[in-house]
Amino acid sequence: MNFETSVLHKKNKTERTIISKVTPIYQTSAFAFNDLDELEGFYQGNGNYLYSRVGNPNTDELGELIARLEGAPAGAAASSGLSAILAGVLAVVKSGDHIVAADDLYGGSFHLIKEELTQLGIEVTVVSFSDAAQVEGAIQENTKLIYSESITNPLLRVENLEEVVRLAQKHHLVSLIDNTFATPYHCQPYLKGIDLVVHSATKYIGGHSDITAGVLAGDEELVGKARGKIVNLGANLSPFEAWLTCRGAKTLALRMKQQSANANRVAGALKQNKEVKKVYYPYQHGEEGFGAIVTIELTDSADVNEFFKGLGWIKIVPTLAGVETSVSHPLITSHRALPPEACRELGITKQVVRISIGIEHADDIIAQLNEAINRSLG
Ligand SMILES: *Cc1c(COP(=O)(O)O)cnc(C)c1O
Repeated sequence: MNFETSVLHKKNKTERTIISKVTPIYQTSAFAFNDLDELEGFYQGNGNYLYSRVGNPNTDELGELIARLEGAPAGAAASSGLSAILAGVLAVVKSGDHIVAADDLYGGSFHLIKEELTQLGIEVTVVSFSDAAQVEGAIQENTKLIYSESITNPLLRVENLEEVVRLAQKHHLVSLIDNTFATPYHCQPYLKGIDLVVHSATKYIGGHSDITAGVLAGDEELVGKARGKIVNLGANLSPFEAWLTCRGAKTLALRMKQQSANANRVAGALKQNKEVKKVYYPYQHGEEGFGAIVTIELTDSADVNEFFKGLGWIKIVPTLAGVETSVSHPLITSHRALPPEACRELGITKQVVRISIGIEHADDIIAQLNEAINRSLG
C-alpha cells in the first residue's frame, strides 16, 4: 500500500471484539457490512445498523432506557425535546386533523403547534385543562390528539392524567403527555394509560445542562411511526449527545431524590418569608417532594431586579433541571412571546420567579434565596 492508502486502510479488515464496560460512542455516520447477505439482513430487520440518521446504537440505548423507565414497550431519541414532540404529534395527525392542547404548555411547544403546525393545515385549540368540561367541549369531529404536560411551567399545575385518559378513550383520541418536569422517577404516564410520553431530555434526564436532546416512549406502533418521522425529518440525535444523555441519566434517581427533597424544604422555608406572597409547589403529591421546581410570587414591595442582583452564587439561567440551583424570570424569558393578557390570566406577573433546585445543601439554597429577598426590599 502507498502512504495515501495506508493512512486510511489496513490490509486485514477484521477487528478484535473489545468488550468495554460502558457503551462506546459510535461516532460514525454509517456502518460497514461484511457481505451482501449481511446488508440484505439489515433490511430484513436483523437489528444491525446502516446509517446514523436511521439508527445508531447510542441513540437506541437512550430510547430503550427511557422506555424502560416509563414502563413502555418502545422508545426513541430525537435531537431535542421539541423535535421529539414534533415527531410524536406528526405520528398521529396530518393536515385537516385537530389537536386539543393545554393553554399552559411550555412556550416552545406552544409555538410549534400554534404556528408551525397550523401552517401545515393542522387545527389546534388550546384550552385550560383545569376544567375537564372545557377540554371535552373543545373536542371536534376531526380531533385526533389530546396534549398536555404532567407538571406545567412555571406554576406547576399537576395534570389530572386519569381525566386525560378518560377523555381520550371516550373520544378515540391519542393522548400525549410531556413528562419533562416530573420525570419517570415521579410519574409514569404510560402506566396510567397515556399513549405517548415525551421528554426534553435536555432537562432532568440529561441533568447536567450540557446537551440538547428529546425522547419519546409508548407502544411499538406509535413510537415506530414517530421514529419514522425523526428519520425523514432529519431530527436524529447525535451519537455523542445520546451517549452523554445516557451517562447523565444513570444518576436520575439520585438527583431527583435529592433535588425534590431540597425543593420541598425550600418551598417550606419560603412560605415562612413574609415577602413571598405565594409559593407554587405540588406538595400534595409526595411527602419527600414532587419535582424540583419551586415557583414564587414576591410581594409588590419587592424589587424583582434587586432580587436577581442579590442571588450570589445562584446563576440566572433561562432553563432548568441542572444539578446546580438556578433561577429564571418567566415573564421576560419562557413566556415572553405570550400576549400580556394571557400571562395575566395564567398568573405569570413580573413578581413571579421560577427556581430550579439543585443538589447543593438545602440550608445554603434557602439562605441565599432569603438574602436575595432581603435585598429586594431595598
Ligand atoms: C425545555 C422543554 C421543552 C423543549 O425541549 P428542548 O429540548 O429545548 O427542545 C419541551 N417541554 C418542556 C416541558 C420543556 O421544559
